Amino acid sequence: MARLQILFSAPDARWEDYRDALPKALKEAGIDASLARDLPADTVDYIVYAPNDGLSDFAPFTRTRAVLSLWAGVESIAPNKSLTQPLTRMVDAGLEEGMVEWVCGHSLRYHLGMDAQIVNPSHAWSPTPPPLARNRRVSILGLGALGQACAKALRGLNFDVAGWSRSARNIEGITCFHGADGLNDILKRSDILITLLPLTEATQNLLNHARFAQLPKGAFLLNPGRGALIDDAALLDALASGQIAHATLDTFRIEPLPRDHPFWAHPQITVTPHIASETRPETASQVIAENIRRCEAGEPLLFEVDRARGY
Ligand code: NAP
Repeated sequence: MARLQILFSAPDARWEDYRDALPKALKEAGIDASLARDLPADTVDYIVYAPNDGLSDFAPFTRTRAVLSLWAGVESIAPNKSLTQPLTRMVDAGLEEGMVEWVCGHSLRYHLGMDAQIVNPSHAWSPTPPPLARNRRVSILGLGALGQACAKALRGLNFDVAGWSRSARNIEGITCFHGADGLNDILKRSDILITLLPLTEATQNLLNHARFAQLPKGAFLLNPGRGALIDDAALLDALASGQIAHATLDTFRIEPLPRDHPFWAHPQITVTPHIASETRPETASQVIAENIRRCEAGEPLLFEVDRARGY
């Protein structure tokens, strides 16, 4: 087999992360390949890709057999009309672990009411214990790789967990909803609502005034999914009315979040700077190497994006 030519098209910081990890994983998978940041387009067999490195026209990559995204969310790549090659998204054990930790940590903050003890300048002694997790209804919009991992971990902490997806799912210990009716049902039982949906035409602005109104009064919101899943103005109104008590947001319509954005100074919002989870070079490199191996062996790719669906 001829030596494969792999183009690494991602910002500089990613190259530093992957320049050793990816060749190591390729070698371990028995793949003879050279990895470079710049190659003539018509020589490239595979593209390892993250946006913002200048490559947006995939048409000249005539022999490229797949574009392998380093990101789980592919909303900025999937609609690209010049991309006719198969596209895979990142599903990586490290990414899942990180998301589980972020989601569980922030859910426990709300569940236990930790803020009242952490910030208590008047040294108030008000011994009101929180309910048990079994009596706290946590809902996850999105039951894919990340949503399921979080649902199972929250269930493991004994929360009353439900999830919502496009197609029907059956997951042990999790109350599963799907479709439009399912969304109405799950919102009503969401003391803590977590979004782990991809951003698509169908999910953009999903959480608007009407949907926030369906939540129990004083619900908590975690958005590690994508900023544009939420109508920002509707969220500010829901916080002002107390419909939502507090929100922790990790993703935003514009990132970095502009310094003058009202979310920064809002007393009922915690901003985390898109750190809920990060693709981990070592495990992600193994996923990429496995997909190249599969493609070369004529086997189906893992985690291929359905372009019509958008995720
Ligand atoms: P995934 O495996 O593709 O799962 C997506 C889930 O959303 C599936 O359950 C899918 O339903 C559901 N869904 C999609 N469109 C829907 C719709 N219109 N109505 C109802 N359900 C819908 O994605 P993932 O790997 O879990 O990642 C989810 C998202 O997390 C990513 O797209 C990305 O935006 C975000 N993310 C954020 C970070 C961060 O650091 N903040 C890191 C990684 C990822 P089906 O099960 O029926 O297909």
